[in-house]
Amino acid sequence: MAEYTPMIKQYLTIKADYKDAFLFFRLGDFYEMFFEDAVKASQVLEITLTSREGGIDERIPMCGVPYHAASGYIEQLVNHGYKVAICEQTEDPRQAKGVVKREVVQLITPGTVMEGKALLEKENNFLASISTFPEGVYGFALTDLTTGENRVSLLSGNFEEVIGEIYANGVKEVVVQSDFEDELKKSIVERCNVTISYENNNTINEEFSKLVNHLDDERLVQSFGRLFHYLNKTQKRSLAHLQPVRLYNVNQYMKIDIYSKRNLELTETIRSKGKKGSLLWLLDQTVTAMGGRLLKQWIDRPLLNRDEIDARLNMVQTFIDQYFERLELRDLLKEVYDLERLAGRVAYGNVNARDLLQLKKSLEQLPSIYKIVSELKHPYAEDLSKRMDLCDALTDLLQRSIKESPPLSVKEGDIIKDGFNETLDQYRDASRNGKTWIAALEKQERERTGIKSLKIGYNRIFGYYIEVTRANLNLLPEGLYERKQTLANAERFITPELKEKETLILEAEEKIVQLEYDIFIDIREQVKGYIPRLQTLAKVISELDVLQCFATISEERHYCRPIFSSNKLFLKDGRHPVVEKVMQAQEYVPNDCLLEEGRKLLLITGPNMSGKSTYMRQIALTAILAQIGCFVPASEAVLPIYDQVFTRIGAADDLISGQSTFMVEMLEAKNAIVNATSNSLLLFDEIGRGTSTYDGMALAQAIIEYIHEHISAHTLFSTHYHELTDLEAELPNLVNVHVSAIEENDNVVFLHKIKEGAADKSYGIHVAQLAELPTILINRARDILDKLEQNNSQDYVPNDTTKKQNANVQLSFFEESKISYGNENKSLSNKDRAILDGIKEIDILGLTPLDAINKLYEIQKQLKG
Ligand code: ADP
Repeated sequence: MAEYTPMIKQYLTIKADYKDAFLFFRLGDFYEMFFEDAVKASQVLEITLTSREGGIDERIPMCGVPYHAASGYIEQLVNHGYKVAICEQTEDPRQAKGVVKREVVQLITPGTVMEGKALLEKENNFLASISTFPEGVYGFALTDLTTGENRVSLLSGNFEEVIGEIYANGVKEVVVQSDFEDELKKSIVERCNVTISYENNNTINEEFSKLVNHLDDERLVQSFGRLFHYLNKTQKRSLAHLQPVRLYNVNQYMKIDIYSKRNLELTETIRSKGKKGSLLWLLDQTVTAMGGRLLKQWIDRPLLNRDEIDARLNMVQTFIDQYFERLELRDLLKEVYDLERLAGRVAYGNVNARDLLQLKKSLEQLPSIYKIVSELKHPYAEDLSKRMDLCDALTDLLQRSIKESPPLSVKEGDIIKDGFNETLDQYRDASRNGKTWIAALEKQERERTGIKSLKIGYNRIFGYYIEVTRANLNLLPEGLYERKQTLANAERFITPELKEKETLILEAEEKIVQLEYDIFIDIREQVKGYIPRLQTLAKVISELDVLQCFATISEERHYCRPIFSSNKLFLKDGRHPVVEKVMQAQEYVPNDCLLEEGRKLLLITGPNMSGKSTYMRQIALTAILAQIGCFVPASEAVLPIYDQVFTRIGAADDLISGQSTFMVEMLEAKNAIVNATSNSLLLFDEIGRGTSTYDGMALAQAIIEYIHEHISAHTLFSTHYHELTDLEAELPNLVNVHVSAIEENDNVVFLHKIKEGAADKSYGIHVAQLAELPTILINRARDILDKLEQNNSQDYVPNDTTKKQNANVQLSFFEESKISYGNENKSLSNKDRAILDGIKEIDILGLTPLDAINKLYEIQKQLKG
């Protein structure tokens, strides 16, 4: 029976261990793929599918990419969420007996890429692991292989929190144990669009114990263990740049659930999912990649500790006051290269001389940066300057060793400066002397022969030669030169002397290239020793960068410093930071806001498109800005420190998870209501829109009452149900406000100004008019509205007749709602009437006590239903 060739057998054995990856199988100058891998890769990468003999009857599908161009293809596959196993030849093919040995040397996955365009400068590339522990506790570990940052946390109870962390950190890949619950896996993949990988080993070993020995909870160690073993297994190389694992606790930060983060567009917009238009985009005046990444982390985690917030705000104030120092610092920071990622690449062994040159340039900025920061005379600045390790010796080493414009490759020489290494200098002298001798020889030979065009050249095959044109050949003395090569109109010669020098020069050059490479590797190893120090430095630099960024934006956009109070919010002339910026020429209308005892819940009414959502969002964004330590868009700002922010804004369908708008609305509402405390900030925009009027209004009212009675949190609630404004009379902490509009000749003009009291009407038809719906339609709508208002009813209005009102039988919703507030209205709905009739007919004397209770229960049920 036909069987596969030994090489294909080898391929299949290796592939069996990497079923979920594309196996890049090294064959000479190509990486080849076979079987299904080949078919799929040829489609994804748009490369030609071919086939080859493999020992059996049918040919085997095959496609390949050249070894030197592989990185681009690998990147494409990984960006699509696939994994790529790189399988190299691990012995010299010339010495191999039988099939050349091959091994997978690295598995590249979305969470472990080390280079390429997928790595955005100002974004982390996180790989996470989830571990499950008893009592519903999840262990959540994070690593960014490019920077070496590691974090771990225990999340309790709710898987939503895990999803929130995956989303907030932009995780690319999640590692779980192989028997991890399918439901949860599905939820991660569908909602967060990440790759799932498996690792069952989570036991501590010597290699990573030093990263976790400060953690006292075994669960934390195991959570990180899962990640570490996965990295070790896939990367198969030094992970010397991994930093000690930092424990974090989500309770130390303001909680903003995944819905609210999306709704508030903190780091990406709802529509385009891009950074542009988000709060991050507005704030980002950082000048280093490290600062950009930290800014994103700070936005994701506003602080709760007042001292920490004030420390940041004080620094921002200092940087605003010390304008010139800040400008100088900004300029210096611009020259600082991504030290964190550089440290990662040093550990991986893939830095070149140009990287080291940039490291040198970065380090050279440090003394000036240190000087500025240490002279700021501020406790936080003092702390930063103390943490700044200038790494003088490393700067000095790089200054002495690396040439100014080295080539990309580290194997061609021309990297190391003269004077750095004595042996290298000697070889260089030999080579230079040889070349000087050759130049002198050329001159001497020209004079001797009288041939002006005689020249000495060099090529790889013949080495050095003397070239004489055909026309001048007769001038050459006999016997001295040995003919080596004949060209169309010239002859090339050599002499024994020339060959002797040539040997010297070539030997020296070969030695130079080898020695330069050795020296470079030695320097790189020395840099490796500095990795932890460079990482600490990177942290200081990134903090400085974010703080100067806050100062820059606060000054540029005229923000004010927030003051914290225990339970009052007062914003004078507050603005929406992003809308204000994008409006440019148009004037943004600033608005005040007051929330305090006696007015904790603002019920906001006003026309569509008048600015209700914008107003609510601006208050939430202001609170977030204040708690990340930035100044805020207002002329005066007093705020409490909120523990959580919840929003239920807009009608953005969660398309990925396939949930309907109304379901999302209710899930978001639930999340807020279940988790909010009296220290939270709640935003509800047009709750109940996604269902029928009665339903929606009933829910809206019930939610308001619930929040008012049971949560008592600062709440902004916008609604188009005008009926709800009557609640002001009932609920002591609820106050009506509205966005004003004026009417001019049947046109509405939105003033975007928030005023006390309820809006008098909803202007929906005017908006329809603005949208240029047909005039006939608009007129008809006005007509219907008039009738409805006359009838005080929400009944169907027939096209031609006006329906008679029958107040006794048909009660308007408006009046029904009055009943529930105890108004003196005697009219009854059909339902109420039916219930009353039912009560009248009860034969009380014929009832047992149990029957009576049952009857009462039934009546109550009818009334509630
Ligand atoms: P609503 O929630 O009332 O339907 P939005 O908050 O969505 O209205 O605002 C509609 C538009 O009005 C916004 O896109 C913005 O351009 C503009 N707008 C909102 N608030 C202001 C303001 N304070 N000043 C100027 N323009 C504003």
